[in-house]
Amino acid sequence: MSTWIIGYAHPMYMGIFRIMKTTYHMLDPLNEPPSADETQHTVTLGYTVSQEDPSVLSTLFIHFRLSKEAHTRFTVVFHDIPGINSRIEDEVKDLCIPIPLELVPRMIEVYEFVSVIVSHHMDDYKVARMLWKRVQAKKFHKRVLPQKPVLNDASESFSQCPICNSDLIHCMTCQVASCGSGGCRGYSQPPLAQCVRHQQILCIPCLEDHGPRLEKCGGCESWCCTRDIFECSGRPVGISPIPRVPGREIISPDAFDIYNDAARAHPPRRDSCINCHMPGWQNCDNPRCWSPAICPECASGGVECLCGELWACNLCANHDDVVMRCPRCDRPFCPSCYYIDRCVGCEGESLCFDCAEEASDVDDGALKPVILVASCGICKEKVCDHCLSYLAASCAGCSCQLCGNCASTKCLTCDRPVCEDCFANHPNCFR
Ligand SMILES: [Zn+2]
Ligand SMILES: [Zn+2]
Ligand SMILES: [Zn+2]
Ligand SMILES: [Zn+2]
Ligand SMILES: [Zn+2]
Ligand SMILES: [Zn+2]
Ligand SMILES: [Zn+2]
Ligand SMILES: [Zn+2]
Repeated sequence: MSTWIIGYAHPMYMGIFRIMKTTYHMLDPLNEPPSADETQHTVTLGYTVSQEDPSVLSTLFIHFRLSKEAHTRFTVVFHDIPGINSRIEDEVKDLCIPIPLELVPRMIEVYEFVSVIVSHHMDDYKVARMLWKRVQAKKFHKRVLPQKPVLNDASESFSQCPICNSDLIHCMTCQVASCGSGGCRGYSQPPLAQCVRHQQILCIPCLEDHGPRLEKCGGCESWCCTRDIFECSGRPVGISPIPRVPGREIISPDAFDIYNDAARAHPPRRDSCINCHMPGWQNCDNPRCWSPAICPECASGGVECLCGELWACNLCANHDDVVMRCPRCDRPFCPSCYYIDRCVGCEGESLCFDCAEEASDVDDGALKPVILVASCGICKEKVCDHCLSYLAASCAGCSCQLCGNCASTKCLTCDRPVCEDCFANHPNCFR
């Protein structure tokens, strides 16, 4: 007897799960498995072949148990003549019932699958899946053009729609086929859910039994992989916003924990996906933001930097390490906005270029813009007069100053730090 363990990638996985679910429902309803989660149960499929002709299937066995059961709970035995001697055995209660009528079509499908495998002498499940895919494509041809005789030619792949010649698409679990072309009569026979961005396709029964893999976007109504749908977890409410302190103060990262633990303005909302760009949805550029995406209702008060590269929600925008502000005009900037500089040591901002021009002759006593006085010879980051020690080393070749990060480029001979230019020209020694 040959046996397989039936895992999620097996084309009979969903079909056998439904047989198992129905069996538990009838004989042990308290333990009926709710979803086709592979970790919750173990299924094996076995068969014997005819003694006269080993390419002909004789009997099929399906064994299954839940993960909490130590031994096979039920065995389904199925013979080539449906109904005769076919039965479900309860191994624990030692009882035996005939296969109920509602399960017969499902058993016939498994039987048909194993027959294909046996006739091709193929046990590998990947080959089995390809063979089964072809069987399903052939069934699609019969479904949409029943009058046309289907040739029994082994070279015919059936992989195109017989009506419009488009490629067929298949449920990635049970392999059921449908035409992939929206305008064709064979489209949606049966309807398949297909992610608009990824090669993820499921028929509706497999989608329902397996749980969330594909989801319909509430905005554009297209099917999407679950991870492609934006979710707003709701603006934190009932907290006093932690005020932004102008200048050099950096608010402790604990603020983000406070936001994350707070009550929310609404339960998680998912009505936009990466394809439909519903107006008003935003992504906050703070990776520690309270929500991966922000719905229009929660996005009010958000801040965009002057170059438009960065957007931060109203809470994250209060944090100096997310949005840079000019100490004089308070306009928001991001690190790639070119008209402001920041000290890499203390993270204090200089005046923006506009303010630097206007303010040169005015004494703004209350402002604390940093004065940038030097920069690293490699990364070009600037430092203020208080942070000069940040430039820890100087280049052995040209004596330019190097920050701690960049001082790791060393002369290959004497091991002294060198800047990029000097290293490129003389990778060896400057002595
Ligand atoms: Zn078609
Ligand atoms: Zn399916
Ligand atoms: Zn959408
Ligand atoms: Zn929201
Ligand atoms: Zn944010
Ligand atoms: Zn300014
Ligand atoms: Zn500084
Ligand atoms: Zn140098």
